[in-house]
Amino acid sequence: SNQDIVLDVNGIEVIYNHVILVLKGVSLTVPAGRVVALLGGNGAGKTTTLRAVSSLLKGERGAVTKGSIELRGERIENMTPSDLVQRGVVQVMEGRHCFAHLTIEENLLAGAYTRRDRGEISANLEKVYNYFPRLKARRTSQAAYTSGGEQQMCAIGRALMTNPSVVLLDEPSMGLAPQIVEEVFEIVRDLNAKENVTFLLAEQNTNMALRYADYGYIMESGRIVMDGAADELRNNEDVKEFYLGMY
Ligand code: ATP
Repeated sequence: SNQDIVLDVNGIEVIYNHVILVLKGVSLTVPAGRVVALLGGNGAGKTTTLRAVSSLLKGERGAVTKGSIELRGERIENMTPSDLVQRGVVQVMEGRHCFAHLTIEENLLAGAYTRRDRGEISANLEKVYNYFPRLKARRTSQAAYTSGGEQQMCAIGRALMTNPSVVLLDEPSMGLAPQIVEEVFEIVRDLNAKENVTFLLAEQNTNMALRYADYGYIMESGRIVMDGAADELRNNEDVKEFYLGMY
């Protein structure tokens, strides 16, 4: 039923700087409680799609000029990022890991800026530490002196401090060693299974993403060119030839 669809992106066009057409009619749906991967090479439009959903386009001089985006049936394409955080949608941006000069714990607490209840915040912090024991071990370390993997975990942890139901995760594997990528994806899987967090994740690492996602969409030049169940895509000859060889 329609109620099970948490995100419904319907034919969106996105233009940057009033002239550069980057998304040329993108449609996708994200069912509640699933992990959906948005795949494709550099510049395909994955980040732009996530930004459209989380309303982060404005800061980049971009705009949704056609189509609609619905969160549980409510139109959201004209909302602000904080409207979306209040509705449980948060984005973990690619490469923007943590505030370098703050400790891991200060970074996590910074994620709770919209919330007031101290008891709830500290319970949430414990929950994040429970999923990311590495962050707990490094809680008093300045983020600048932690590893790339720990900083990626910190960025995800900070997003979790907003208590989201939907996390938009942009290239979590970026710049990380395969073993750390695996560790990050294991935690994503755990959060999905135990906390029922829905994920829409953009990845160039098709192979890894399809091992953890339920469903995948493949983008090329601002369009979805293929979609299917993760297992189906992994076994698809075209996907194998064009995307799985990449990693
Ligand atoms: P990547 O993995 O490199 O982030 P992507 O699939 O996420 O790739 P986007 O970042 O969405 O792709 O970029 C899609 C296209 O939009 C690219 O051609 C890019 O150059 C262009 N683009 C992205 N951001 C902007 C911007 N702020 N202004 C103008 N053009 C942009």
